[in-house]
Amino acid sequence: MPRRIVIVGCGVSGTTAAFHARKTDRTSEIILVGEESVAEYSRCGLPYAFSGVVESLKALVGYDQSFYESTNRIDLRLGSRATKIDPSPRTIEIQDLVSGRNQTLGYDSLILTTGASPGTLSVPGANLQGVFTVRTMNDIERLANHLETVRAKSVAIIGAGLTGSEMAEALVNKGIHPIQAEIVPEILPVILDPDMASIVRERAEKHGVEYHLNSSLDEIIGKEGRVIGVRIAGEKYDVEAVIMAVRVRPNTELAKQAGIQLGESGGIRTDERMKTSARNVYAAGDCVETYDRITKRYVFFQLATTAVRQAMAAGINAAGGDTRYPGSTGVATVKLFGLEVAALGPTTALAEKLGIHPVSVRVTGSTRLHYYPGGNDLTVKLSAHSEDGRLIGAQLIGEEGATLRANFASMAAHLGLTVEEFASIETCYSPPLAPVWDPVTIAAQALVRKLQLANRVESRSK
Ligand SMILES: Cc1cc2nc3c(=O)[nH]c(=O)nc-3n(C[C@H](O)[C@H](O)[C@H](O)COP(=O)(O)OP(=O)(O)OC[C@H]3O[C@@H](n4cnc5c(N)ncnc54)[C@H](O)[C@@H]3O)c2cc1C
Repeated sequence: MPRRIVIVGCGVSGTTAAFHARKTDRTSEIILVGEESVAEYSRCGLPYAFSGVVESLKALVGYDQSFYESTNRIDLRLGSRATKIDPSPRTIEIQDLVSGRNQTLGYDSLILTTGASPGTLSVPGANLQGVFTVRTMNDIERLANHLETVRAKSVAIIGAGLTGSEMAEALVNKGIHPIQAEIVPEILPVILDPDMASIVRERAEKHGVEYHLNSSLDEIIGKEGRVIGVRIAGEKYDVEAVIMAVRVRPNTELAKQAGIQLGESGGIRTDERMKTSARNVYAAGDCVETYDRITKRYVFFQLATTAVRQAMAAGINAAGGDTRYPGSTGVATVKLFGLEVAALGPTTALAEKLGIHPVSVRVTGSTRLHYYPGGNDLTVKLSAHSEDGRLIGAQLIGEEGATLRANFASMAAHLGLTVEEFASIETCYSPPLAPVWDPVTIAAQALVRKLQLANRVESRSK
């Protein structure tokens, strides 16, 4: 009998797991169950399809159905929800959402890639027509239709993290004024320190984003069942829609019901092979908690990059292979109003909270030598662990070059290099492409000096 692998969730994790399971075991039966009616598409592209930078929502779809079914012999069941897992006889119940018909399937290996759901705020008016989240194609279709119907001039965005910030830019591109509320004092608080985030905020303000920092949403005001305004920190603003872009939650109900262990952060706990506490059950992507190689704890990174690597391991192992997912540095990047913003590692505030006490430097250099036309400023903030000198954080902002340099820093942090080791790595140079001393190297050298100084002061005071 061929091995039967059932995968729940047809997002990027489910699809990646399915393709890698197929590459590992050519004979297995693979069933991919997804509750959405479309096959995997890029959620990361949603803001760009909304703004029109990407031509259509359809363009975000990864593969057509025949690529699953004919090329890879994957039994794709869209519009189907897994409702119950029984790990001891190894069965899973699937409901067809159109017909309502239930089916019980046996499995040899099961992979949970149920993803995450956007959070909402239970303020008065949260159920009014015109309140949206941004997670699915359907969300974007509904939002775009609503804005067109009401001829929206202003939209409130609650939360100034990655998704909220991308949507603010998308609204500006569509000629709609974004009013953005963020409960903490600066934007992008999960990836950037306030001194770095302010560079992005000032650029966004120049493009017309209206921020209300340190401010929470009190209520959504409606008329005849539809949004006409919001009250933020006591002040009323006229808007025709509200986008809730607050923290997402992992979808763990199915796992919980099956008695599968969750971690302290609430996501599904797996080992390095992406195996859960239940026999032959694996998990990957936004529904699991990820080992953070820098802070050495389990966290929610909820990044597509993390998801695909975890899913590759889950798919290979579920199909009889043996590979490991080593954890992540959480390196992330975003482009906002012409600025590349890239970061990894805990912010200074989080590091302090974790008792790491980082030593940091901030340097602004150029992406080319002074005489060569076209160079751009790149601001780099690097942080080191005060005790072992490890590189634990990098935040980079500039019109070009931030993302690839963040990947370079991510490699160093992944390998556990000290800042001194990082500074000693030679980078390439050519006048049209990169300077002799890269801004990241200059920042690393400055950080080495700061660490040496801090150590000297400390040893003198002993
Ligand atoms: C607007 C936006 C922009 C983003 N930009 C970036 C970016 O630039 N870079 C980056 O790295 N990451 C980005 N992300 C995050 C990235 O999209 C996610 O990390 C990634 O989609 C996670 O994939 P997943 O397959 O684990 O989960 P999901 O994409 O959430 O997919 C899970 C799927 O499982 C289905 N499902 C859940 N429960 C069941 C069930 N019981 N039965 C059947 N199906 C079920 C869900 O309906 C869903 O289709 C962005 C996310 C958003 C929303």
